[in-house]
Amino acid sequence: NRRYRKTIIAGNWKMNNTLSQMKAFAEQIKPIIPKGKWCNVVLCVPAVNITSAVRLFKDCHIAIGAETCHYEDHGAFTGEITAEMIKEAGAKYVIIGHSERRQYYNETDFTVNKKVHAAINAGLIPIVCVGESLEQRELGVTMELISYQVKCALANVPADKMRHVVIAYEPLWAIGTGKTATAEQAGEVCQAIRAVIRKLYGAHVARSVTIQYGGSMNAKNAAELLAQPDVDGGLIGGASLKPADFVEIINSAN
Ligand code: PGA
Repeated sequence: NRRYRKTIIAGNWKMNNTLSQMKAFAEQIKPIIPKGKWCNVVLCVPAVNITSAVRLFKDCHIAIGAETCHYEDHGAFTGEITAEMIKEAGAKYVIIGHSERRQYYNETDFTVNKKVHAAINAGLIPIVCVGESLEQRELGVTMELISYQVKCALANVPADKMRHVVIAYEPLWAIGTGKTATAEQAGEVCQAIRAVIRKLYGAHVARSVTIQYGGSMNAKNAAELLAQPDVDGGLIGGASLKPADFVEIINSAN
């Protein structure tokens, strides 16, 4: 699998870490982060700190991402930022459709699709989040839902852009709860996501797409989750705030 696609360990800082806290984080992580490994490391930070983050983490090979973007490329949307602004600030990635955005900010499968296009057009790599609630899992509709979310997100995305799209499977019941999906559950859904991409784009493209797991991934459970053949990385919230834990996760991907 590693021959075909990148392993990507991405932190999602959400609404955490001020500029001074980020500087302290950088100082702590620089001496311990592994150098020259094949796994890609990303930190998605609050938009106001992207420019500083790019500068702070450049010399330890951590790429920077945003946590959302708008789908229009300019206009009267007070408080919003475009994918192009994020790109020009020096970021390489943007999280799209995180469940917290879907829950609190009216993100829908429709806006997720528009934002995926906006990100790609700006030259950013979208990290597209999908995931089922506990109720949906208990009803037995997880695979249908995930397949629907993936198809919506990727609608009209051409095959030649798929190499620069990342999917993150994040079951809602595992986010911030300390309740991780088992490696089997994570592996099963990530495999199903790859099957959906295979149907849409063929085997060659499906093989090249990085699919992450997210939801209470930590230094203890990362190795087992990442050992699943279709789990190509992680989207990490809480544990990405602690330099030592984040580095341990990166090491377990290596
Ligand atoms: P968590 O968050 O690792 O704190 O569960 C993951 C996420 O929301 O991306």
